[in-house]
Amino acid sequence: MTGRVGGRVGGRVAAWVGGGVAVGAATAWLHHTGGYAVAPAGLLTCPLHGTTGLWCPFCGGLRCVAALSHGDLAAAASFNVVVLVLLPVLAVWWALGTRAAWAGRPHPWPRVGSRGYLALGVVLLVFTVWRNLPAVPLAGFLAP
Ligand SMILES: [Zn+2]
Repeated sequence: MTGRVGGRVGGRVAAWVGGGVAVGAATAWLHHTGGYAVAPAGLLTCPLHGTTGLWCPFCGGLRCVAALSHGDLAAAASFNVVVLVLLPVLAVWWALGTRAAWAGRPHPWPRVGSRGYLALGVVLLVFTVWRNLPAVPLAGFLAP
């Protein structure tokens, strides 16, 4: 006899909910560190930026989340517009995954093929190059 919330299904639900709680707690911590317009105190420095001075595609991502937690959409976009665009996609992915785990079904998200990953890689590469070339229009906005 297995219940929906017992055994393996309960473990999957706990994993999804636990992941959501962890992300929520991290976001609350970012919110309360304040000063996101500068660099929030206590944040780790990106290893790529720390060693080369270049912005990786995820530089400014945590500050983007911190700004978003304060409702400052313009600042969030200026810190990392790619992370800002991906956050709602991740939120829907998490909600669908949690609901599917609760129902004991596999995640309903369509599988991303190699072309999808290639397209994401190209977007991240173009974004990275663009934000590191100060002479290119909008580079100042794209760099955190
Ligand atoms: Zn970085």
